[in-house]
Amino acid sequence: AKKQGGNRAVFFSQELANQNERARLIANNLVQALYNNEYYMVYQPVYDLSNQKITSYEALIRWESPLIGSISPVEFIPLLEDSDLIVPVGRWILRQVALQVKLWELEGYNGFQVAINISVKQMMHREFLNDVKSIIQEAKISPRRLIFEITETVAVQNSELATQILSDLNHLGVKTALDDFGTGYSSLSILKLLPIQQVKVDRMFIMEMEQEDNKSLVILQGIIDIAKNLGMSTVMEGVETSEQLELLKNMGAQKIQGYLISRPIVAELAIELQKNTWKY
Ligand code: C2E
Ligand code: CA
Ligand code: CA
Ligand code: CA
Repeated sequence: AKKQGGNRAVFFSQELANQNERARLIANNLVQALYNNEYYMVYQPVYDLSNQKITSYEALIRWESPLIGSISPVEFIPLLEDSDLIVPVGRWILRQVALQVKLWELEGYNGFQVAINISVKQMMHREFLNDVKSIIQEAKISPRRLIFEITETVAVQNSELATQILSDLNHLGVKTALDDFGTGYSSLSILKLLPIQQVKVDRMFIMEMEQEDNKSLVILQGIIDIAKNLGMSTVMEGVETSEQLELLKNMGAQKIQGYLISRPIVAELAIELQKNTWKY
């Protein structure tokens, strides 16, 4: 037994070393990845139940490293944020999406919006608004084609500045959305505080919907109703089953996003869904 324990320790320290090695590799390759074109964007449709159409897409970053393999944004976005690299990479994301919107427009596809995730640090950077303006101008797209998704952490540090930037974005014509709603520590009053037009309800609520305890269901219904009464649109995240879809329909949910409709996919495939989407 003693020997086995020893082997386990060796195994764990080896695993730890591998983990450290991986973390080091990732951290060391974040910048190069940008210049080597290892990042790319995928697009996940958001389906509107009221008109049975895909009315927007959420742009999500991917990283395929020849050295490390594919790395989840859950792993590398925080590293980009910690190192301030989220500013240049965030700028690249904006430009990439704006150009895609233009490309789609030239192909005759323009009846939808595209949502972009914006990190707090990126949004608070002094050049942010100028970057947004110049990227929109360069791509020659309407700012109305874009939705910026931010999380509630934006209001934690400097809610006055956050409010100012969000309202500046609105004045530019860009729509703003509150992402992952209901997961953090914020209260409903954040909906009153921030100039946002859309609430994205976190996947957690959708996962909890079918549990015995109906508390989450009551809360979810409350969120849907409140957002509606405040004149905001709602997107239900992480809808994976038709059972969830039926429940959400009955609750008066407006827009849904999740694997049931489609996983995030490359632009060429995402646009195909405009032509032939299943009616839900
Ligand atoms: P998020 O903004 O909440 O994005 C939704 C995440 O849920 C995406 O994960 C998406 O692939 C996943 N998802 C969508 N539908 C389903 C479903 O039905 N079931 C399940 N289990 N998952 C679903 P992804 O692409 O791995 O991104 C994770 C997070 O990384 C994002 O969460 C966002 O916070 C961040 N992120 C991704 N792309 C970007 C980006 O371009 N910029 C910034 N700043 N952050 C990004
Ligand atoms: Ca998002
Ligand atoms: Ca989300
Ligand atoms: Ca999230």
